[in-house]
Amino acid sequence: MFKPVLGIIGGGQLGSMLSQAAKKLDIRTIVYCDDKDAPAQHFADEFIFGEYDEINKLKEFCYKVDIITYEFENIPFNTLQKLNDEKKVLPHPNINKIIQHRLYEKDFINKCNLRTTKYVHIKDQKDLEASVDYIPGLLKTCTLGYDGKGQYKIENVNQLPNLKLEFNKEYILEKFINLKSEISVVLTRYGHQRYSIYDPIENKHEDQILKYSEIPAKVENNIIDKSKEWASIIAEELDYVGTMCVEYFIDKNDNLYVNEIAPRVHNSGHLTINAYNVSQFESHIRAVCGMEKIKLSKLFDAKMINLIGSDINLYRGKKLNENEFFFDYLKKDIKDKRKMGHLTILKK
Ligand code: AMP
Repeated sequence: MFKPVLGIIGGGQLGSMLSQAAKKLDIRTIVYCDDKDAPAQHFADEFIFGEYDEINKLKEFCYKVDIITYEFENIPFNTLQKLNDEKKVLPHPNINKIIQHRLYEKDFINKCNLRTTKYVHIKDQKDLEASVDYIPGLLKTCTLGYDGKGQYKIENVNQLPNLKLEFNKEYILEKFINLKSEISVVLTRYGHQRYSIYDPIENKHEDQILKYSEIPAKVENNIIDKSKEWASIIAEELDYVGTMCVEYFIDKNDNLYVNEIAPRVHNSGHLTINAYNVSQFESHIRAVCGMEKIKLSKLFDAKMINLIGSDINLYRGKKLNENEFFFDYLKKDIKDKRKMGHLTILKK
């Protein structure tokens, strides 16, 4: 069988784990990244360092690969589109364009008739001061925010006149949901109605950063079914190919809301490496490279702990139990609030 050379844009931990999964399938990988210390260079067959708008470097990358995928959504749309004119980019750049912008993403989800929190576009101070119906709420930048970056909690309307925002950026204000829990559904779409759907994962955040993920999620059966169904409705509507993740909120009355979509493998899915016969990374490679879909089977219940900042030092060199799996992302510097590694504990 023809084995394509896979180009991966982005060289963080997701790029590393994609490269490792590709190696297992005998697929060559070339990672392109704008960070010359990118950890994925330790796992890919080849590494190209370049900016995401550097035409010559991107051309070199494009020439060397057969298919292109990406590990994060904030790649300039023009870059993905130009690459897609030469070599197939999966998921399609149009999908990324919707999802990298919180407002387009929420509009899209509502067009699919799926529930999100109430939200409003904030373009200027006047919009902000008129947004009392959305308070208490979270104000988020429409683009480039993640792990709580670019987010402001607004508890009461008195705060509004005092919030001095830079209106060279766009914002969305989301009504705050009284959360009972948060779950995510990771799925891989191979083409029309062909899916591998992992069971919902329960997630706990600290300071808006994912800290723990666990299966099985402790939620009602109807929420399990609905969350999987909604994720496949989204994937079908996007004509998605590859692995994606839908993050959900569940409120105190057991209402399900789509929070956001990640057009890529996802942090909450890391436990699939040890808990399933096929990981989210392997599934992604199989789907984008046109390989066979293997029926998913869960081998163990599991819990994943993100090692953030200096947490990593507790595990480097530590003797682990046989049900524990430690992943060090090999990042050059330890920084506060930065995901440095993770630990998966299988419940055997
Ligand atoms: P986000 O970057 O939008 O996924 O937000 C990160 C985390 O902040 C979420 O996983 C929630 O724990 C919390 N959060 C974000 N938006 C809301 C909201 N509208 N209501 C309640 N909690 C939220």
